[in-house]
Amino acid sequence: MIIAEQKPINEIIKLTKEHRKLLVVGCGSCVTVCFAGGERETEALAAGLDLAAAKDGRKVKIEVDMSVRQCEWEFIDGLADKVEAADVVVSTACGVGVQLMAERFSPKLVVPGLNTSFMGLPVEQGVWVENCGGCGNCVLAYTGGICPIARCAKSMLNGPCGGSQDGKCVVAADIDCAWHQIYVRLKAQDRLDMITELKPAKDWTSARDGGQRKIVRDDLKIPRPE
Ligand code: SF4
Ligand code: SF4
Repeated sequence: MIIAEQKPINEIIKLTKEHRKLLVVGCGSCVTVCFAGGERETEALAAGLDLAAAKDGRKVKIEVDMSVRQCEWEFIDGLADKVEAADVVVSTACGVGVQLMAERFSPKLVVPGLNTSFMGLPVEQGVWVENCGGCGNCVLAYTGGICPIARCAKSMLNGPCGGSQDGKCVVAADIDCAWHQIYVRLKAQDRLDMITELKPAKDWTSARDGGQRKIVRDDLKIPRPE
C-alpha cells in the first residue's frame, strides 16, 4: 500500500491560515490503514487547525469529510457541494488523491495534509518499510521475492556490494542488506545459482526516469460513438 505521514501541523497552518472556510477531507484507503489520513487523523487535524486559529484570534469554519478513495473520480463527486463552499481544501490522501481533488475541483485551492512516502508494508506496529519502487519491470522472480530496487540502497541487480557487513547495509547498521536477504532466501529455495547468474544492466525506461508513465489497456476502453 501507499505509506504516508502527516505534514508538520505548522506547515498546514501556514498553507491555510489566509482562509476562513476549510474543508479537511480524509481518505478511507491506504492512508487510513497506515494511520496518516483516515477518519481519526482527519478529525484530529481539523481540531488542531481549529485550535491554532483560536489561539491566533482567527475565525475559521472547518468541515470534515471522508472519501472511500480520493484517487478515483466517482468517489470524490459527492464532495462537490462541500468543496464549493470551502475556501481551501486540505486533503489527507496520498499525492494521487490530492492531485485528483485539485483537478476535479479546479480552480479550487487544494493543499496536501500528508507527505506521501513510498509503497511498502508494516513490519511491526507503527513501523513501515519501503518494498517496491514501481520500476515497471518486476524482477522478484529472480531474487527470491525480495526487491533489490527498493530494498537495496544502490538498487543493484547483481549483489551484494562490497559494503555488506553481518547482513546489514553499508549505508546504515539498522538497515538489512537486501542482497544478504536475497542470498538467504535463494539458498533456502535451493536456487543459489540465480545469484551467480550475471543480470544485464536494467532498462530503466519502464521506471519513472523517463517522465510520467502510462498504462493503456485497449481491451478496457469504451469505444466512443461515431
Ligand atoms: S522489481 Fe520493480 S516492480 Fe518488482 S518489487 Fe521491485 S521495484 Fe517493484
Ligand atoms: S550493503 Fe546490501 S543493500 Fe546495502 S547497498 Fe550494498 S548490496 Fe545494497
